[in-house]
Amino acid sequence: MDYLLTEEQKMLKETIAKYAQERIAPLADKIDKEHYFPEEIVKELGEMGIMGIAYPSEYGGAGMDFVSYFIAVEEISRWCASTGVIVSAHSSLVCDPIFRFGTEEQKRKYLPDLLSGRKIGSFSLTEASAGSDSGATKTTARLEGDKWVINGSKLFATNGKEASVFVLLASTDPGQKTKGISAFIIDSDTPGYRIGKLEKKLGIRGSSTAEIILDNCVVPQENLLGEVNKGFKIAMITLDGGRLGIAAQALGIARASIEDAINYSKERHQFDQPIANFQAIQWMIADMATEYQAAWLLGWRASKMKDMGLNYSTEAAMAKLKASEVASFCANKCLQIHGGYGYTEDFRAERYLRDAKITEIYEGTSEIQRLVISRAMLK
Ligand SMILES: Cc1cc2nc3c(=O)[nH]c(=O)nc-3n(C[C@H](O)[C@H](O)[C@H](O)COP(=O)(O)OP(=O)(O)OC[C@H]3O[C@@H](n4cnc5c(N)ncnc54)[C@H](O)[C@@H]3O)c2cc1C
Repeated sequence: MDYLLTEEQKMLKETIAKYAQERIAPLADKIDKEHYFPEEIVKELGEMGIMGIAYPSEYGGAGMDFVSYFIAVEEISRWCASTGVIVSAHSSLVCDPIFRFGTEEQKRKYLPDLLSGRKIGSFSLTEASAGSDSGATKTTARLEGDKWVINGSKLFATNGKEASVFVLLASTDPGQKTKGISAFIIDSDTPGYRIGKLEKKLGIRGSSTAEIILDNCVVPQENLLGEVNKGFKIAMITLDGGRLGIAAQALGIARASIEDAINYSKERHQFDQPIANFQAIQWMIADMATEYQAAWLLGWRASKMKDMGLNYSTEAAMAKLKASEVASFCANKCLQIHGGYGYTEDFRAERYLRDAKITEIYEGTSEIQRLVISRAMLK
């Protein structure tokens, strides 16, 4: 489907595919098994412009578009889904809202370090009792003089351990639910801020998932992002873009599953022939390839719509829903084609299956994507 890409996008795809195969692939096992955060890769991706790919050069970005971002996250995730989400959460969930909703001063202060990857970003919306119902946030922010005092705790912040810049949502008018939430930019060295529990996870083990504790965390008034009580809208718009990143991550896992399944089915012999000769295997591969291409087209369309300045909220939900379910489908079939060996750690199939599952959960579960899509269809 490269014919849908511009010459610049094709070149980018080739460059990242080569880099990912040479530099990320050899580390992917270590990243998974040792829960290793690939600091050296993040640094190199920063130097290559990938950590700020879709943002203007005046703030230190690479000045490319969201289709390019979508391509980059897929190519990275083809080899390592942990690295894919490190880039995606940083870019979509932190750089994007600061770029879109930040004051000029905030952009000049935060974007150059973030877009170059010198600093990592993390986004904190979820809480123990505010998951899919993210408007139920209990963390509060109270204005005292010229400072916001934030109290509460957040859960599941991707990049939470390594990040030095957080976009965090807190209630500034408790009782008003979504109409009383505001967004803040918080530096990790702010007094009253600390990291709590780090989750041990089924997959994407190189990406940290942290609890964030805010105990009278004092944030300067100028770190409010956007208008007071308008933060929930910022979060929802941010998640639209985030879903493109997760769709791309899921597509990378799906492609890895398809490629490994094809290679294995040609090499593995049973009944004196490659298992690829059996129609049962051929049909699995046909289904995987067809589902992948359908999902890719949805992801490309939503990214293109974002580039065109169109409202792409429903299309982003469709892209994320489809790609995440296709990732799990393809990873499952890949493991099946590997037979008993696929169930062992000697092959990558089991990692793909573990990594794929989270794409159906974060940045809105598949049920929530269906809710978003059906609301648009039924309005
Ligand atoms: C590894 C990981 C990384 C994450 N990274 C981040 C991050 O960086 N920042 C952040 O803020 N959050 C993050 N999250 C949180 C993630 O977005 C939430 O876990 C997710 O939105 C679901 O919320 P929940 O876990 O509370 O599930 P719940 O909301 O409790 O859902 C439980 C089940 O009920 C279903 N359900 C809930 N409401 C409805 C409904 N109205 N209709 C139908 N079904 C429904 C859900 O689909 C799900 O199947 C991360 C989570 C994980 C596991």
